[in-house]
Amino acid sequence: QLEKLQHVDQLSIIGELAAGVAHEIRNPITSLKGFLQLLEQNNSSQTSYVGIMLSEIERINAIVGELLLIAKPRGLMLKEKNLIQVLNTVVTLMTTQAIIHNIQIKMSFSDSSIREIIVNCDENKLKQVFINIIKNAIEAMKTEGEITVAIEEKKDVVTVSVQDQGEGMSEERLAQLGKTFFTTKQGGTGLGVMISSKIVEDHDGQFLIESELGKGTKISITLPYKEIKRMA
Ligand code: ADP
Ligand code: MG
Repeated sequence: QLEKLQHVDQLSIIGELAAGVAHEIRNPITSLKGFLQLLEQNNSSQTSYVGIMLSEIERINAIVGELLLIAKPRGLMLKEKNLIQVLNTVVTLMTTQAIIHNIQIKMSFSDSSIREIIVNCDENKLKQVFINIIKNAIEAMKTEGEITVAIEEKKDVVTVSVQDQGEGMSEERLAQLGKTFFTTKQGGTGLGVMISSKIVEDHDGQFLIESELGKGTKISITLPYKEIKRMA
């Protein structure tokens, strides 16, 4: 059955904390990592422990890195950008990763005369959202299949949906999703969805997840647009 989940903004406190803590954590971690790398080279009998410690440090680093990204949610740099251009860039970027897994990424338009969709947005933050979502889609499919990025215009808003043919999610997983650090992946951070939904909400948009276990997942992002330019 189809499950829907609407994300509520619950990040403001986490964001405040994250900014301070993440910065403080980074420096000692870098120094720990350096000394562990030295140990790894010098003391062969303990190498496997050191390897585990290094990979755990990498995990902390990844989490801290993503926390730093949420840390400035209010600092949106809004500019008028063509959303199609933004999506093209992200799709091109992610295609290299997709190809390795035999996955194709396709773009589809509800109206083929659309040339530009001008959205007031923070381009880098929006790119981050679509990168996160397409990355999750690739990871959910593992090998083979298609990811469809569909662009659909409505009255004042545009919806971009990313549909995968991956493992989908159970009700339990859907209920957990979006909570801090919830991940089912080795080395995952469980922050991608939370950060992405936060960025979309900062753009006065909506972030919707629909998923069917064993069939796939569709993430829909709805944003207000300023103007649509069409072919003459
Ligand atoms: P991460 O990718 O680091 O685990 P995310 O916040 O991006 O963190 O995702 C959290 C969890 O939500 C994932 O570990 C996975 O279980 C689930 N998930 C997210 N996107 C999908 C998807 N497209 N298909 C199936 N499960 C997904
Ligand atoms: Mg992810």
